[in-house]
Order: sequence, then C-alpha cells, then structure tokens
Amino acid sequence: MKRLAILTIAIALHIAGAALSADQQPAPGRTLAPSTDGKLNIIAFGAHPDDCDMRAGGTAAKFAALGHRVRFVSVTNGDAGHQTEGGGALAARRRAEAKEAGRRIGVDYVTLDNHDGELLPSLKPREDIIRQIRLWNADLVLAPRPNDYHPDHRYTGVLVQDAAYMVVVPNVTPDTPALRKNPVFMYFQDGFQRPNAFRPDVAISIDDVIDKKIDMLDAHVSQFYEWLPWVDGDAALAKVPKDPAERKRWLKEQRGPQPTPAVREALVKWYGPEKGKAVRYAEAFEICEYGQQPNKAELKRLFPFFGM
Ligand SMILES: [Zn+2]
Repeated sequence: MKRLAILTIAIALHIAGAALSADQQPAPGRTLAPSTDGKLNIIAFGAHPDDCDMRAGGTAAKFAALGHRVRFVSVTNGDAGHQTEGGGALAARRRAEAKEAGRRIGVDYVTLDNHDGELLPSLKPREDIIRQIRLWNADLVLAPRPNDYHPDHRYTGVLVQDAAYMVVVPNVTPDTPALRKNPVFMYFQDGFQRPNAFRPDVAISIDDVIDKKIDMLDAHVSQFYEWLPWVDGDAALAKVPKDPAERKRWLKEQRGPQPTPAVREALVKWYGPEKGKAVRYAEAFEICEYGQQPNKAELKRLFPFFGM
C-alpha cells in the first residue's frame, strides 16, 4: 500500500512536471509539507508581466536579499499591451522583459500563456494557478483585489480567491499534489474605493530597495517608456527621456510608491512613530478572508523586516 502511494505520488509529480514548461518546474527537492529550512516561499500573481513588480517589487527584493524564495507569475502574456506591437512577438518581448526584471532583484518570473485582455475566471486558469501555488509550496500568496478597472486584474483576483481553498483539496487538480497547509493569502495595495477601500494590514518600508525596484521596472521597456505613456496621451509620451540613466530617474519620480494616509498609519503601527513617519516609499498588503488567517506573530514571521 505504501509503495503504491509512493508510486502514485511519483507519477503525479511526473505528470505535473510534464505539463509545465521548464521555467515552471518546482525548485529541486521541494516537498509538499511546509518547508523546514527556515526560508519562506512567496508567490505573487499579477495579470500582466509588470503588475507584481509595481505592487510588490520592493518587498520581493527584500525577501530575496534574505534568501527567501519568490516567484512572480503573470497570468496573461501581455500580448495586447502596446500601441504598435502585438500578438506573439509582443508576448515574447514581454516574457523576456519579465525574466530580466526578475533577474535584477533575484526573483523567479513565470509568464502564463493566456491572452491579454481576454482573461476570464474559468476552470483552466484556475487550475494553472492552483498548480503554481502548490509547486511553489507557498507560505504566502499575493494577488490583486477583485475591485479593479481592468478585467484581467479583476479576474486574476477572483482566480486566486477561487484557488485559496482548492490548493489543499487533493481531488482537485490531482496531477499536482495538494498542499498540507493552507497558505496565507494577501492583496496588493490599490486605490479603488468601491465596494470597499484597501485596508493596509501590513506596510513595508522599501526605502532600502527603492532603486532596485525602479531597476526592476526599468526592465519593462515596452511598458514604462512606450505603452503606458502612450495611453496617457501623446504629450506624456513626448516627455519620456531618451537617455537610459535619465529615464530611470524619471521613472523613479513617476513610480516611487509614496504612502497614502492609511498606509502611513500602518507604517507607524509596524515600525513605531519615529521610523514609521520617516518612511518615503512603501508597499502594503491586506489579509484575504480566504486561506489561513494570520495573527500578528504570524505576520511578523511572514514579513521578517521589522526592527531591522
Ligand atoms: Zn496590469
């Protein structure tokens, strides 16, 4: 019976491996029980190959610097995000940009092959997300809230919510062994107010890694220097500096995430008034009601940055 069980797991792992491309393979030697080497496994989902970077790039750089394992997953391939390019060529360009962005801060970056602008909360992408969370043996899962102007963002939020319980159910997506312990799920910060505003349960100072975060964003040339300024209008596009060093300085001015009043309050709560009031750049996260519910001690374990 025991041998049969081992064989079944081996076959299941083999099938899971075969179904995934090389860059989606689990790190070698990973098991499904929670890791015991003192390192955290963090996985973040964004709809497009720059979303995780904007919302959690600084925090990810801090995790990576401490030797924790971080994977960013773009649920779509970004093949609609440009004014003059598109389709497979744009998807390839953006996949390469994402890889480079991940390399710059020491995180793994996977781009799934769903079309940009067409994501729906259906079974296949849900199963892909379940597999990703399981294969990464995640302790912490980050994702957008489902309140968002962009349907891909919204449905990425829904898809991760839909996976939050299923990752522990062995009969669901049985080609990839289920997690024994439900991860903590948290949302990225956003500015949307309806039906409810983002609540910063944890706020992280990224002052020490802001240049790393900007360096990461700088790898997405097709987005920050071409597409996003174009969306803002021809005048905005004309303002993008041509010189690589100059445009990076411009990017920092544009994209350095300054704390909102609610995030400032959370910074003071986590770092104390003196440090909390002095923070210039921050990223914040809200606990999702699904998945494991962390107390303050667990949050400190999952975000080992306070008092440093
Ligand atoms: Zn996006």
